[in-house]
Amino acid sequence: MKSIFEYDNAQTENYIRPLTVQKYSLKKELQRENLDLPDVSEYNVVRHYTKLSKTAFGVDDGFYPLGSCTMKYNPKLNEEVASFKGFVKIHPLQGKDTLGGCVKVCKMLADSLQEITGMDACTLQPAAGAHGEFTGLLLIKKYHESRGDFGRKKIIVPDSAHGTNPASAAMAGFDVVEVKSNSEKGVDVDELKKIVGDDTAALMLTNPTTLGLFEKNIVEIADIIHKAGGLLYYDGANLNAVMGIARPKDMGFDVVHFNLHKTFSTPHGGGGPGSGPVCCTKELKEFLPYPVVNDGFKMPQNSVGKVTAFYGNFSVMVKALCYILTLGGKGLKEASTCAVLNANYLKSRLQKVYDTDSDRYCMHEFVLSLQKLKDETGVSAIDVAKSLIDYGIHPPTMYFPLIVHEALMFEPTESATKEMLDETADVMLRLYQEAKTDPDKLHSAPHCAVISRPDEVKAAKDCKLRY
Ligand SMILES: *Cc1c(COP(=O)(O)O)cnc(C)c1O
Repeated sequence: MKSIFEYDNAQTENYIRPLTVQKYSLKKELQRENLDLPDVSEYNVVRHYTKLSKTAFGVDDGFYPLGSCTMKYNPKLNEEVASFKGFVKIHPLQGKDTLGGCVKVCKMLADSLQEITGMDACTLQPAAGAHGEFTGLLLIKKYHESRGDFGRKKIIVPDSAHGTNPASAAMAGFDVVEVKSNSEKGVDVDELKKIVGDDTAALMLTNPTTLGLFEKNIVEIADIIHKAGGLLYYDGANLNAVMGIARPKDMGFDVVHFNLHKTFSTPHGGGGPGSGPVCCTKELKEFLPYPVVNDGFKMPQNSVGKVTAFYGNFSVMVKALCYILTLGGKGLKEASTCAVLNANYLKSRLQKVYDTDSDRYCMHEFVLSLQKLKDETGVSAIDVAKSLIDYGIHPPTMYFPLIVHEALMFEPTESATKEMLDETADVMLRLYQEAKTDPDKLHSAPHCAVISRPDEVKAAKDCKLRY
């Protein structure tokens, strides 16, 4: 693909007009040596951006079964409502008494999130899931310290956890202790009993786990942690299996964060904007970040402080509330039921040839292990994932969770139709056959994409966004 700079024909024509505004002298250190804008016509600019948009893949382009990430359909009504003038043209420094409608949105959203989780209080400030985890862990830290309990330095995290869990715990100043999974891929309770003690601050858990399995022993686990004086943190980034069906508070959790940009349909990818509200029990309410907009701008007594500028990503909150109100309580439950049904349907079609990590019914997502296929044919999980691109399907999550070898994790969400699921299953079964007959085709996939296989580590760590 030719870049816009290669269309620059400045030698023959000038499209960028000469400066007509008055010159203003800036300090030397603020001045650029030169500004390399391509000098091209308007239609070349339009074509450049149109071409770029076509090389990207989003939820509006096709099936996007990215496990753990909940890439569900983003209803356009949400966008329309979020673009209302009264929502777009506000300023965080304008008088509180002129913000009534927006404060009401925050309050309605917080109330809904509390109802969904069974919790007693909520902050809408955190700007991402990991940011919510960090905030929730600060509440836990302050809770223990407020009781004069300074020895609780350890956060227990299962080996199946999302990578942000141990990272957030370390950021919040805790030591991370890993607890192994049992043969059913849940927390190994005997192992947990050995680890837990009076230095335990909390256990962080995702339920259903990142393997899409409901933690059957959750009540016993909660009991073990609470008896030891610790708290239970629920990673609710992905609530897509339990909305309206099971509440984290009833399972024994004390704190939970959400990803509005997953379960509650607001768009994500490319780094934001996100929103990771945190709900907690009444025992932790006094530690919430200030001010609590959804509670009359209150300053909690023993607040952990502020975790973001102003009040959080408001437009994301509007979209999430719009989604919640459009579906209603019954609709949210139906969305969860449907997400679970879709995952089980796809799983049942794929497990005819692929190995799954468990024979149990899954929740909203499931994991395949391609280790056997790799041993037999040399075709790996990444080869199959990359091949899906040629069929217009976004690859599932790869190589996560770490406890499954050659993992591919699918999460169809409630937005997938039966046709989409069947199409995907047909392609996956076909790739399985091709792995046996023509493995090289899969090794070199994708064949239709602009970029085939970038060095992903280098792309993430040494990202060059300029020409
Ligand atoms: C996505 C996700 C997170 C992190 O959310 P971010 O908004 O990316 O910070 C944490 N836990 C789980 C289980 C997730 O799926």
